[in-house]
Amino acid sequence: MKGKLTIVSTGPGIREHITPAAVKAISECDVIVGYKTYLEFIEELIEGKKIISTGMRQEVDRCSAAIKEARNGNFVSLISGGDAGVYGLAGLVLELLTESEKLSVNIVPGVTSATACAALLGAPLTHDFAVISLSNLLTESDLIKKRLRLAAEGDFVTVLYNPKSKKRTELFFDTAKIFLKSRSPITPVGLVRNAYRESQSIKITTLVELKNEDWVDMRTTIVIGNSQTIVSGKRMITPRGYRI
Ligand code: SAH
Repeated sequence: MKGKLTIVSTGPGIREHITPAAVKAISECDVIVGYKTYLEFIEELIEGKKIISTGMRQEVDRCSAAIKEARNGNFVSLISGGDAGVYGLAGLVLELLTESEKLSVNIVPGVTSATACAALLGAPLTHDFAVISLSNLLTESDLIKKRLRLAAEGDFVTVLYNPKSKKRTELFFDTAKIFLKSRSPITPVGLVRNAYRESQSIKITTLVELKNEDWVDMRTTIVIGNSQTIVSGKRMITPRGYRI
């Protein structure tokens, strides 16, 4: 029997943000592979299936397990939060496969944190934006800082993923300093933690105040406005340029 591997994006949190295509892909599989926390969000979709769950940072094991199951002839869903192709597992799976691999692999897109959090903040991404991860586990800090500097100089609205963990705080503080060199201290900055989950928090602050937001963690996404971004009521808006 020919196996099949589907890399399924499951969005930021609640079930409503999982696309019908993702639900269909999961329902057609008999083996589900994923990180424990993400599997908890889709409990009712995976009932009765064979589950292989792994902990954080075990990405290579998780992808290898999914590939192995599919090579053995199973229909496998590899679950990835947000969008699987944005700092997700899609790339790693494709890297692990050999060029001549005959395994059927499909990728189902999903709602990524940038757009999910932008919707909660208002409309901060209505103009050009850059997405930068502050995690230096797989990327050199110097390269991250270079990208931050160039995004700041280029006046891109900038979305930060993986902004700060208990051990990794330096790049978070560096980011504020780097942006303050080329952007006004009162630039709006939006913070969303646990978007579309029970403990969701949303705050709009300014670039100069960002360093004081000590609740920022690995479940938070940050959106730094560009030079045109404004706050209207409780909403952050980056004007597209329409005359009104
Ligand atoms: N593939 C995921 C991103 C993985 S990187 C996606 O497309 O969204 C992990 C980072 O995503 C976190 O550190 C955080 O910055 C962001 N993130 C993931 N889920 C989130 C949520 N529910 N609310 C806010 N940020 C989230």
